[in-house]
Amino acid sequence: MKYISTRNVKATVNSPEAIIKGISEDGGLFVPSDFPILSEADFAKMADMEYYERSAFVLGKFLDEFTSDELLKMTKAAYSRFDSEETAPVVKLDDNLFVLELFHGPTYAFKDIALTLLPHLMTKSKEKLADKSKTLILVATSGDTGKAALEGFKDVDGTAIIVFYPSDGVSDMQKLQMMTQEGKNVKVVGIKGNFDDAQTAVKKVFTDPEIAKLLLDEGIKLSSANSINWGRLAPQIAYYVSTYVDLVSSDEIEMGDKINFVVPTGNFGNILAGYYAYKMGVPVGRLILASNQNNVLTDFFHKGKYDADRKFFKSISPSMDILISSNLERLIFEAADRNDETVKKLYKDLADGKSFVFDVSKIDEIFGAGWANEDETKDAIADTLDEYDYPIDTHTAVAMSVYNDYQDETNDENATVVVSTASPYKFPLDVYNAIHHSNKKMDAFKAAQMLEEEISMDEPDGLKTLQAKKILHDAVIEKDQIAEEVLKFAKTQRI
Ligand SMILES: *Cc1c(COP(=O)(O)O)cnc(C)c1O
Repeated sequence: MKYISTRNVKATVNSPEAIIKGISEDGGLFVPSDFPILSEADFAKMADMEYYERSAFVLGKFLDEFTSDELLKMTKAAYSRFDSEETAPVVKLDDNLFVLELFHGPTYAFKDIALTLLPHLMTKSKEKLADKSKTLILVATSGDTGKAALEGFKDVDGTAIIVFYPSDGVSDMQKLQMMTQEGKNVKVVGIKGNFDDAQTAVKKVFTDPEIAKLLLDEGIKLSSANSINWGRLAPQIAYYVSTYVDLVSSDEIEMGDKINFVVPTGNFGNILAGYYAYKMGVPVGRLILASNQNNVLTDFFHKGKYDADRKFFKSISPSMDILISSNLERLIFEAADRNDETVKKLYKDLADGKSFVFDVSKIDEIFGAGWANEDETKDAIADTLDEYDYPIDTHTAVAMSVYNDYQDETNDENATVVVSTASPYKFPLDVYNAIHHSNKKMDAFKAAQMLEEEISMDEPDGLKTLQAKKILHDAVIEKDQIAEEVLKFAKTQRI
């Protein structure tokens, strides 16, 4: 299959190239030239498959340069690291209300679904391209991508990874997960600034030809583990397909019945994967985007103006504290009938003036959008525990709150799946305080311990053991030092 850039449809690459490059030289994102269709027979066939087989099956439709054996081997290796046999289990809370649990991977957030697989995809892609260079993975993280990418790439031959996170913009647990990261090819750096600052600076490094040349002298090429990379996005399509297959095979719905998804959204990667699943034939009724107080996307879907020139809030759902939502570009590309000139113009407007205007009536009508403020988010945590004895994290709670509003307004009778993106134990203090309507201060481990005494979900070992780990990365830099830091680290990793 060929991939084209959202900013130049004539620039085509194959899937190994799309995965290795991460982003197109013109600043655009790679998208598949068309969407393969899954038939009812395909869905029926998948009912008897394990999750890793379903994933390989869906990936095979896009990554036809890889054999099905190669894909199976990779997905099996990736998903055997999960603490749930089903990898991405669908849990029933009520008639027509389900939760898709995407937090059973090694770092307890949904990013693991793609980032346990991406190192395998990259290594194989380089093999296919006979590329002997070292790959330096450059990551800007709002909290969860960083740790998941570090766990995925640590000590993987032929790769190194450097992660930049907003030093005051992630949860204590997220920060400790990163600062204690082991591995001989890893580096973690805090920046004084927010996620958007980190993402913008990192994107600049990617498209700077001078930096590319300096790195190439060391035998190093840059790539991305952010959801701008097709290799990050493609594995996420599989869990939407798998959810539909699970609901049909457990007789919750009939084949062909429409289902809704509510997705806690930041960089628009997760929900975009849902849209791609819909394009492939999963019968989706509504795809409902849920924002926190940084509701730039909700405003855009309602008003047609993407306006990033606004106050940035630090919320209790930090992985969604984003004002520049990278993957929206891929949806705009579809809504603009794949007109690369339109996309180029809009993103120039955004770079120049922090906003653009787009006729949202052109966006697929399956999309809905809502947002939850901090109090509504906390209430959703307390109410979901009360009503269903089911603990949710602060991000999932944003989606649950938006789901409740949507249901009140529409009485939609489709089965609806709230996508759960993190374990509540990654944000134990906020979850604890939400349940108790309190505002206690205590350290994250104490909060996790108290939480564990009252909810029917155990704290994952990987978080419990953090407490005893050594801090290995405590550097904090100014945001304009990112390029310099990348070059410095590259020197220590040259081949
Ligand atoms: C990354 C993340 C999100 C946002 O997902 P996007 O793909 O960026 O929209 C939501 N919740 C959690 C826990 C995350 O880590």
